[in-house]
Amino acid sequence: GKRLRPESLSVTFAGYDIADMARQPLGKLHTLFASYADGTDKELARLSKGHLEKAIVAQRIAEDLCGRLQVLLDLGLGYLTLERSTPTLSPGELQRLRLATQVRSNLFGVVYVLDEPSAGLHPADTEALLRALDRLKASGNSIFVVEHELEVIRHADWIVDVGPGAGEGGGQVLYSGPSEGLKKVAESKTRIFLFDDEPLSVGRRREPAGWLKLKGVSRNNLKNLDAEIPLGVLTSVTGISGSGKSTLISQVLVELVAEGLGHDLPPEEEEGDPLQRENAPRTQGRISGLEPLRRLVRVDQKPIGRTPRSNLATYTGLFDSVRKLFAATKSARARKYDAGYFSFNTGKGRCPNCEGEGFVMVELLFLPSVYSPCPVCSGTRYAAKTLEVRYRDKNIAEVLAMTVDEALAFFEEEATAHRILNVLNEVGLGYLRLGQPATELSGGEAQRIKLATELHRLSRGNTLYVLDEPTTGLHPSDVTRLVRQLERLVDAGNTVVVVEHDMQVVGVSDWVIDIGPGAGDEGGNIVVAGTPETVAASKRSKTAPYIRNTLNGTHSK
Ligand SMILES: [Zn+2]
Repeated sequence: GKRLRPESLSVTFAGYDIADMARQPLGKLHTLFASYADGTDKELARLSKGHLEKAIVAQRIAEDLCGRLQVLLDLGLGYLTLERSTPTLSPGELQRLRLATQVRSNLFGVVYVLDEPSAGLHPADTEALLRALDRLKASGNSIFVVEHELEVIRHADWIVDVGPGAGEGGGQVLYSGPSEGLKKVAESKTRIFLFDDEPLSVGRRREPAGWLKLKGVSRNNLKNLDAEIPLGVLTSVTGISGSGKSTLISQVLVELVAEGLGHDLPPEEEEGDPLQRENAPRTQGRISGLEPLRRLVRVDQKPIGRTPRSNLATYTGLFDSVRKLFAATKSARARKYDAGYFSFNTGKGRCPNCEGEGFVMVELLFLPSVYSPCPVCSGTRYAAKTLEVRYRDKNIAEVLAMTVDEALAFFEEEATAHRILNVLNEVGLGYLRLGQPATELSGGEAQRIKLATELHRLSRGNTLYVLDEPTTGLHPSDVTRLVRQLERLVDAGNTVVVVEHDMQVVGVSDWVIDIGPGAGDEGGNIVVAGTPETVAASKRSKTAPYIRNTLNGTHSK
């Protein structure tokens, strides 16, 4: 599998051929080249006796390599290998990789625009990111960052706060200036969190109702690991990027629990080469203590649907009750339109021209096809007859065009619809339109729609919920609301396990498991597990100082 001829592989450096070298983590390569770069290596000294010019060349190359590697290490990417293919990188890793090439480019006068560069980063990695941004700034560049992470916002020289609310309730520049000035802007929601130095208010920590015991787990950098996960409480799993926390929770725990409960896991996303997928690592390990669990739910960021035919109303079940309301109106009953008639996916009431798509494809010769609004229904998806039926003066297309918040007021008297809309509002999605196609939703929005769907069906208990970084893309005020929703799941007798970097979530958890201490080969162990206070007191945990700051209301700056 080395791709090269034996002749090429016979050339080695420090005992490695080029393929072996490509399989080493960047951190290890840096150590390898360092002694050549600073001229202290014995091999280099021997070379310089016979061929001084060769020794100088080797040292120059090593210096350059070390410089390039150092930037990648600074950005917390030391666990990656050179041969790691870019499609398997997370968006955050890819963004930092691109940033690294810029830091080395020595360009100046460039404007860099970054969208949430801290997404998926442990606070320790965020500090490294800020150092890289500082270097870009110091070389004479301008950096614009869209960001929710408070440490990044505090680091900025200039803040632009947009709001005050979302969607219709936002869209205004509330403040633009040095960060201190934001203190005086009363309507800013960011202000409340940015200048908050109160100790975190923590309710009573819940006691575990039982334990899931994982034994002898091996996968990626986890080597024969034992872990215990408490039931009936909110648990945060922390660790720097590449520590193995996602492997332990989103892969190992999910697979073992699903197997134990006899659930079929939906197949993983079709990614990469089918042959490579065959060789995907298998989980080794055993699990016990599953008896109290009935159900496993992964609340992930995968799309809620792949076509514009699914949207938040159809996914949450809201559209079922809306269609029933329309079918119950006098004019619908007079025409014998049932609830199915008001579906744009199957019913007779949909527009016959576009079959409820709302748009038609126009094929162009030699050019990519274009989509344009359906000329018959003007994009409403319904036949004119269907739109004549009105519920409280709105037709069904007008209802689909409402935002969650507008619909919340509109359906105030309809218990079922109101309950679903209320949880959607509580998870911070009040600004979405009911008919917004699934294909237009971000991963974070899809995840919160799934969470809302679970919440409004709440009452089951005995379910294990696994969430991987649910706060990605959330403003601190939305994080507070999200935590409240997770606590509702726990209070109803369920178990919630989140893989999380956000200290607001970690600080209010009942239990914290810190994986690490480092990334890759230096990670994969449980550094400390316990209440947030216990983990905060750990000397070895890289997460501890940040939990401490959050619990005490102090900031690292
Ligand atoms: Zn149409």
